[in-house]
Amino acid sequence: MKEVKYVFVTGGVTSSLGKGIISASLAKLLQARGYSVTIQKLDPYINVDPGTLNPYEHGECYVTLDGAETDLDLGHYERFLNVPTSQANNVTTGRIYQTVINKERKGDYLGKTVQVIPHITDEIKRRIKLVSSGNKFDIVLTEIGGTVGDIESLPYIESVRQLKWELGAQNCIVIHLTLVPYLSSTGESKTKPTQHSVKELLETGIQPDILVLRSDRNLNAELKRKVALFCNVEENSVIESVDVSTIYEVPIKMLEQGLDTTVLRKFALPFENEPQLDEWREFLVKLKNPKNSIKVGIVGKYVELPDAYKSIAESFVHSGAMNECEIDIEYIHSEEITEHNMVDRLSGLNGILVAPGFGSRGIEGKVLTARYARENNIPFFGICLGMQCAVIEFARNVLNMEGAHSTEINHKTRYPVIDLMEEQKSITDKGGTMRLGGYKCIITEGSKVFDAYGKTEITERHRHRFEFNDKYLDDFRKNGMIPAGINPESNLVEIIELKDHKWFIGVQFHPEYSSTVLNPHPLFVSFVKACIG
Ligand code: GLN
Repeated sequence: MKEVKYVFVTGGVTSSLGKGIISASLAKLLQARGYSVTIQKLDPYINVDPGTLNPYEHGECYVTLDGAETDLDLGHYERFLNVPTSQANNVTTGRIYQTVINKERKGDYLGKTVQVIPHITDEIKRRIKLVSSGNKFDIVLTEIGGTVGDIESLPYIESVRQLKWELGAQNCIVIHLTLVPYLSSTGESKTKPTQHSVKELLETGIQPDILVLRSDRNLNAELKRKVALFCNVEENSVIESVDVSTIYEVPIKMLEQGLDTTVLRKFALPFENEPQLDEWREFLVKLKNPKNSIKVGIVGKYVELPDAYKSIAESFVHSGAMNECEIDIEYIHSEEITEHNMVDRLSGLNGILVAPGFGSRGIEGKVLTARYARENNIPFFGICLGMQCAVIEFARNVLNMEGAHSTEINHKTRYPVIDLMEEQKSITDKGGTMRLGGYKCIITEGSKVFDAYGKTEITERHRHRFEFNDKYLDDFRKNGMIPAGINPESNLVEIIELKDHKWFIGVQFHPEYSSTVLNPHPLFVSFVKACIG
């Protein structure tokens, strides 16, 4: 059996330093050198998964093909690596404790006191190893959420310490990410926070192997040498991560400083060949040299926090580059759109996307937006709730079904054109109970969606409880809103499109979760093309 190598990525000084991007970038480089790699995120909060979190808390909830509701960093992992992640790639404290407590109730620890050490740490270590079970990967990167020194992350840090001891230095390394702030009053970049952060890590028994220093400007060799000396790492193991214009540039920056070869050297793994990054570099050239430019409005109710729509924004980066088009995204608050200001707010956009969401806040603004796009022949892309709003609008204004609605918002509506899915009717628990993950869909030939995909069978990821009510399907079809995609098993309408419109498509699934740098999602590519006109 081959030995799996483990890289742990921790962070210090502040949160939001971009551990996810550094992990994804390193993984990309290792993959480009021919290694099979995966990335895992350990989140120190007590929710079993982020599915029950409001997007204002941690940004978007990302969904894997196997139906796990996960942290948005998994989206970065997939977009960089172009390989699907799974349930095992995201573990929370809640899930760890749930497993241990269930085992305790079953009597698996009968007679013993169940404790953080060893029971919780053993479960954490089991989960870390689980991701590479079946020998699928040469290297596993594990990102530890939170900041070193947090009470919540202590059991994770202790598990890393134990694994390092158990597996040995050649199989397990720790990369620590810190911040090097610049003080304008003295004109200096300061290393003290990094030194303190490393000291904090040392107190837990971990000597980091590599330091990645986040900074808003380049750091000189003397500063890096000083950090190496005081933090006890090799000189070539101090890497700078300076702000760049796109996150997709980070792997190249890391390559230039040899982050990948430093890691491989520590693992005693070979690296003769140059990494295969031709396609990646081509993407960057296209991204930076657009021939067109468009403005797209994203209408949603969480727009104060763009991380709530991370995968959608990234899908536009991928599809923009493919179309050699710069996309200026304008986030528009759906609560602010009214009958009176809608022309004002929405004219001047080359295309409009109505975002996913839950609940009634801002819903009428989304419905109005769909009407504006339909009546003015503006490319329209409705995702999940966005599609449902387009259906509601069409029912009200074309089919004259006054007050038509989704029963999520108005369960007494006379025209429940969007209704709870049959299998959802008996479910009361909120956690992990939606229709989640990949489902097949058969596409109608001759539709715009068919043009976009170029095939009739697709699989897309879902996260919803409500659906198009097919009791009304004939009315819609006769009046020009056609079902362009149907689930072959359940007959659920997964895609609607308008016959007489430039580009008006609503999807019940989430195409944004499966767009990657090397495989931009066909619907986003086609939408952008339509926006360019
Ligand atoms: N709230 C809607 C539903 O549950 C849409 C969900 C979504 O947009 N992800 O069906």
